[in-house]
Amino acid sequence: GVTQMNRYRVALIPGDGIGKEVVPAAVRVLNAAAELHGGLQFDYQMFPWSCEYYLEHGEMMPKDALQILSDFELIFLGACGYPSVPDHVSLWGMLIPIRRGFQQYINLRPVKTLRGVPSPLKSEKAGEIDFVVVRENSEGEYSSMGGRIHEGTPYETAVQVSYFSRMAVERVLRYAFDLAAKSPRKRLMAATKSNGIIHTMPFWDQVHREIAKEYPDVSTRVMHVDALAAYFVLQPHELDVVVASNLFGDILTDLGAAIMGSIGMAPAANINPERKYPSMFEPVHGSAPDIAGRGIANPIGQIWTAKMMLDFIGEQELGAKLLDAIEATLVSGRVTPDLGGRATTEEVADAVIHHLLGRE
Ligand code: ATP
Ligand code: MG
Repeated sequence: GVTQMNRYRVALIPGDGIGKEVVPAAVRVLNAAAELHGGLQFDYQMFPWSCEYYLEHGEMMPKDALQILSDFELIFLGACGYPSVPDHVSLWGMLIPIRRGFQQYINLRPVKTLRGVPSPLKSEKAGEIDFVVVRENSEGEYSSMGGRIHEGTPYETAVQVSYFSRMAVERVLRYAFDLAAKSPRKRLMAATKSNGIIHTMPFWDQVHREIAKEYPDVSTRVMHVDALAAYFVLQPHELDVVVASNLFGDILTDLGAAIMGSIGMAPAANINPERKYPSMFEPVHGSAPDIAGRGIANPIGQIWTAKMMLDFIGEQELGAKLLDAIEATLVSGRVTPDLGGRATTEEVADAVIHHLLGRE
């Protein structure tokens, strides 16, 4: 008979540096997960778009890249960055065009401490940290509006405009409330700074209050982002779902990644919730030029990112098994140098596959 196969087209963009090491490792794990499932198949196509590509072609990706990518359901990205290429080139030349072109207006970043990895936090509750940050990913503080005035004079001034449309604020808050409503603890924490930023942040808070009325079951709290940063360190186990603007979310999630024990572990996803366009899955870490090419990059961030991809396509059960396999690997001590071990990237991936498939 014919087995029903769920097939997904995945665009692979390993990028630069350790992206080229951790993406192939995570793909091997993803294929093992598909094998375990039995009715799941990923069809990959690889694209060399990166800073290295930029140095050769003068652009991060070809002009018709979005057209090409729109044929895929999923984009699995490593990292972009090269010492001789300024960060804004890769950001504005590839990552932001993909995120905005495909309306990936949700940036999702789980923060969870796993067994086997000590958190830098000394709190006895550090092992109970398990929350997710929902970051606004389409506008806000990261805009190209602005410029310089009085250049070359003592009054030289730089202006950077941040903008928050009702549509964008509503949709990210609604997404966060939905997530909180589905979580067992039903708690939402929102970042603001309405005492200092007196136009955009009170607007954000107002929309928050309006949407909160639609979710009577969710207990919600608004906190200034500076106080919230301290809360991340002092009471992170109290957090469930956190929602924040583009800039605040960026800063808070790096703090979140640090709490997890290594930036090499933290996963992330850029989601188009309507699924009209592909969503893009990329770990928090960058291309790590300082350790690239040595085969010692921690692949857990990229593998956990693959787990988020499984969740996204509705394979939460398989995703949970993959996270168990990651945790079993960490507990076994078969880890890369950033976590104090001596294993290579490939050995960590092998260990995860071993635990996933339950082989002796
Ligand atoms: P980029 O310009 O691409 O953002 P970066 O060096 O600025 O690169 P990261 O790549 O995130 O930023 O690296 C920050 C530090 O964390 C580096 O010392 C790097 O070696 C380390 N690091 C990042 N990812 C990993 C990983 N997966 N495994 C081990 N170490 C990592
Ligand atoms: Mg960097």
